[in-house]
Amino acid sequence: MMQPNSHYNDLKEDYLFRMIAAKTADFMKEHPQKKLLRMGIGDVSLPLPPSVIRALHEAVSDQADPLRFHGYMPECGADFLREAIAAHYGKRGILIHPSEVFVSSGASDELGDLQDLFAPVNAALVMEPAYPAYADACVIAGRKILHLPSSWENGFLPVPDDRLEADMVYLCSPNNPTGAVFTKELLRDWVEWANRRGAVILFDAAYEAFITDEDLPRSIFEIDGAKTCAIEICSLSKTAGFTGTRLGYTVIPEALLRQGMSLNRMWVRNRTTKTNGISYILQKGGAAVFTEEGQREIRENIAVYQKNAAVLSEALEIVGIRFTGGKNAPYIWMNCPDRMKSWDFFDLLLREIQVVGTPGAGFGEAGEGCFRFSTFGSPVDTEEAAKRLFGLLCGIREGMVRL
Ligand code: PLP
Repeated sequence: MMQPNSHYNDLKEDYLFRMIAAKTADFMKEHPQKKLLRMGIGDVSLPLPPSVIRALHEAVSDQADPLRFHGYMPECGADFLREAIAAHYGKRGILIHPSEVFVSSGASDELGDLQDLFAPVNAALVMEPAYPAYADACVIAGRKILHLPSSWENGFLPVPDDRLEADMVYLCSPNNPTGAVFTKELLRDWVEWANRRGAVILFDAAYEAFITDEDLPRSIFEIDGAKTCAIEICSLSKTAGFTGTRLGYTVIPEALLRQGMSLNRMWVRNRTTKTNGISYILQKGGAAVFTEEGQREIRENIAVYQKNAAVLSEALEIVGIRFTGGKNAPYIWMNCPDRMKSWDFFDLLLREIQVVGTPGAGFGEAGEGCFRFSTFGSPVDTEEAAKRLFGLLCGIREGMVRL
């Protein structure tokens, strides 16, 4: 009889966003006249930039023309896009060869698929609080997981330690949900740790485009020695509004070898077996992101989210609530007032001001007592949410709100 992968039984129930949706729906059934402000979900609200839309339309027309039509695309990505991405790194002084770039249908897909490169015996270190896909992908693969909690004490940026007996580590910077960004010094420590151990860093850079501080690294390959120990996973979802269109890329350096095997060659072999490439149309749209015009347009969209972050941050600063993120990241991670539990704070926000956020406990135990706001909503809703939040937090401080 077929034996199912019993590791699925080990997955924690994915109740976070379902529970948020259920609680919100119940509240709205009872109070249909209330205006709800959704600041929870990490999905963009602005459409794709005009140059991307134009490129997508042109690519659709190509597919209608016998002379310009494209059939199967190369499994690892079209040369035009791999070259554009390598050149994009080059502009920041990072030398990446197009053969080291793999076009993907998004970071989530890659975070799961890349597990194929690692034997099940390898233990994975997962920073916490973190995007749940890292731990889930390891659970499905039957891998041992070592949780690496972070807190206010270390700015939600865990540091490596030679006692950590792991063979691979997931790092995310800027981090979802905390918005914390690794400095070059901290990343250097991780790179040295990985090279010393022969471990591999899976570096999720899905939010790199939100880094404005010139001193903070946007790529792990800004760090010397990273090419012998790191894989970088990137996404156009938040960078350029591709959440529903789907496109990303992964960089696996040629220099990344373990026990004489090249992880780059292994991934070429994996992709040629498991995919038939990403749609020509999407890759054309993606290439437009890396043009001068595309870069200018995505910066305009990102600036809207950054303004949202500034509006929310200001409200929290004035009331004196401790928070991280917002400056180089599209998430704000705040301490719940009065040592409240994160789901209690969720209920309070819904009941009193109809603002929906994400309870920190949903990102692992280390997230309890904290709360995440996304800055991807509309500016009008964000302004209104910031006003309501400010009023509520002042009310709590003055003992005017029943907790
Ligand atoms: N990595 C992180 C840290 C994320 O927060 C997300 C989505 O929210 C992803 C990856 C997934 O990105 P994609 O849309 O490219 O699958």
